[in-house]
Amino acid sequence: MTQYDKLLSAHAGEVFIDGEWRQAKSGKAIDVINPSDGECIGEVAASGADDVNDAVEAAAAAMRRASSGGWTPAMRQDALLSLARAIDDNAEELAQLEMIDAGKPIRNVRFLDVPQSAAGLRYFAGWATKLSGETMELSVPGDWHACTVREPVGVVGQIIPWNYPLMGAAMKIGPALAAGCAVILKPAEQTSLSALRLAELIRQCGFPAGMVNILPGYGADAGAALVAHPDVAKIAFTGSTATGRVILRDASAHLKRVTVELGGKSPVIVMPDANIEEAARAIAMGIFFNSGQTCSAGSRLLVHASVVKDVVARVAEIASSMAMGAPSDPATALGPVISQAQQDRIFAYVDRAVAEGARCVVGGQRPSGAGFFVPPTVLTDMHADMEAVREEIFGPVLSVLTFDTTDLDAIADLANDNDYGLAAYVWTNSVSHGLGLVKRLRAGTVRVNTSGGNDFVLPAGGMKQSGNGRENGRAGVEAYTELKAVTIAL
Ligand code: ADP
Ligand code: MG
Repeated sequence: MTQYDKLLSAHAGEVFIDGEWRQAKSGKAIDVINPSDGECIGEVAASGADDVNDAVEAAAAAMRRASSGGWTPAMRQDALLSLARAIDDNAEELAQLEMIDAGKPIRNVRFLDVPQSAAGLRYFAGWATKLSGETMELSVPGDWHACTVREPVGVVGQIIPWNYPLMGAAMKIGPALAAGCAVILKPAEQTSLSALRLAELIRQCGFPAGMVNILPGYGADAGAALVAHPDVAKIAFTGSTATGRVILRDASAHLKRVTVELGGKSPVIVMPDANIEEAARAIAMGIFFNSGQTCSAGSRLLVHASVVKDVVARVAEIASSMAMGAPSDPATALGPVISQAQQDRIFAYVDRAVAEGARCVVGGQRPSGAGFFVPPTVLTDMHADMEAVREEIFGPVLSVLTFDTTDLDAIADLANDNDYGLAAYVWTNSVSHGLGLVKRLRAGTVRVNTSGGNDFVLPAGGMKQSGNGRENGRAGVEAYTELKAVTIAL
């Protein structure tokens, strides 16, 4: 029996509520699709509003029990560390599940998704014992003791996308649980398997019943029910800008706290003095890794005219050398995208760009055979108002624009000329160019001479239509708390 057969038969129709597996009341199911061949490999439960109600009730009860001291910061820290260890102990199994369900190349999942999920939980575990309020000295007349108390915000609904299913789950539950919240996690309908396996592990790691509930389901049913539930204090969402907008609107009915981490069309600026070889490698990695299904992917290349030929030629060369194929093959660098719908959407963007006059330097062709594959694609001869320059494609497609100036204001204007503001990348050997652009770019993350440097200690999030709020770092944990101001007259 394969890993996924075992998991699917153990939990057919089940949801994880109040520390136990239950049949979903909805009685509905979601097909589990393997993106590398398009085959349906089984079904998982599609939770509905009744299941959400039960989970919220269990979560609220868990928080009430916890408030009388049964769930101390040290216990939260220990449970999160145990979960990290459980992920390490089951790393290969989780990697196989993630590979089959999301179509990710096995070498990527082994190297990134699984170990980083454990690392993230370890990072957040530390915060459980480090959160605190402050004492203040008041100036109003009187004799006072005044302080702030940091309290968990309450029951949290967490809705995540399909591009990093396990990491997305770990990075959502980690800070919420560290802060003392109870969570209801809804994985994306395309990728439930690793979240279900995570629920099995959670059961063994000392979390009180009801503190973590995991409900596979569709956005319009389970997701919308979470957003609408009056006893859910906060929604943490990662996904498309369109859905983020709907969630912000619906959550306003109860003035819920909402953090939304949304799309991007992140610029990569290459100055004439950049190290072209290093830049080209990072540019290719940035847009082609995970088949471009990364919100912070550098998808808009803005390169100085004097070096554009070299940069594009080198990126295209790297693209052509990437092995696209079976995710299970350790040599594969590029797997399929998540679904037929995404594959069609990506090719439609490329076709329209070409029809508008863009030139496809590499890629762009639909491969024959099964599976939702999209080859790494580079589009040049573009202008700034083309759809493929402005909109997030969420596939391995790089749109290239050139500029012919070293005026930083003009370059930043070009980079900032977009609705999104998630990340920006700068390649230059000049400190003044680098720091000058950092200052001018409207993005939640700016990286100079690297596409890496990702660390849980850094806050991640977007400006403009890339979202609001920050995840990770101190800010990401404090986002799961409320500050209470206390004054005591002495
Ligand atoms: P995509 O369109 O690429 O699937 P979405 O942003 O729609 O991206 O999906 C991200 C997550 O949001 C998924 O878990 C999905 O089920 C959920 N979702 C979609 N629509 C809604 C909604 N109206 N309310 C709550 N969650 C939703
Ligand atoms: Mg799948």
